[in-house]
Amino acid sequence: MQLSEKIKHSIRDIQDYPKPGVLFRDITPLLANPVLVREMVQQLIKDYSGQKIDAIASTEARGFIFGSVLAYELGCPFVPVRKSGKLPYKTRSQSYALEYGTASIEMHTDAIQPGWRVLVHDDLLATGGTAGATADLVQALGGVVAGFSFIINLSFLPGEKNLTERFGLAPHYLA
Ligand code: AMP
Repeated sequence: MQLSEKIKHSIRDIQDYPKPGVLFRDITPLLANPVLVREMVQQLIKDYSGQKIDAIASTEARGFIFGSVLAYELGCPFVPVRKSGKLPYKTRSQSYALEYGTASIEMHTDAIQPGWRVLVHDDLLATGGTAGATADLVQALGGVVAGFSFIINLSFLPGEKNLTERFGLAPHYLA
C-alpha cells in the first residue's frame, strides 16, 4: 500500500467535532503507529533534505508534532507559532479570516533571522488561512517562505489553490 493510502486509512473521521457540520480528521490513530510515523518522517526528510531550509515554523498544537521532528532531522531551528497571548517574549501578530470571524497567531520577534529560508509545516491544510498567516509572519520578520508542508490536504477545500496563488508555491502534502 502507498504511504498516502496508509495515512488515509489511519485517520479517524469524527463527525460534528468541534461543532456541528465539521468532519474532524483525528490523527491520533496515526500517531499510535510508530512504523507508519517512521515512514512518514523518512519521506519528509527525503522531500526536504536536498533543499536549503534554515528553520521550520509550525502552528500549535498538532503542527508541533511533525514540525519539531522535521527540524530535528534536518538540523535546523524549530519556530513555534502560537495563538495570541501564549508566547512569553516580544511577539509579532497576524490575524486571518475564519469561516466565522477572525483568529490571530504570533511568533517571537527574534525567531527568524533576515534572509532565512523557512519551511511552514502543519498537520492539515483546509482553507490555507493558518499556513498563510504563518507565512505572512515569516515574511514580516524578514524570512523567505521556502515551502509549505502538510501531512493531509483536504482537497475539496481551496487551501492548495489559495497558498499557490498568494505565495507562488504549491503546497506539499503526504496524503
Ligand atoms: P486552515 O487554516 O483552514 O487551512 O485550517 C488548518 C488548521 O486547522 C490546521 O491547524 C488543522 O489542524 C485545523 N483543521 C482545520 N480543519 C480541520 C479538520 N477538518 N480536521 C482537523 N483539523 C482541522
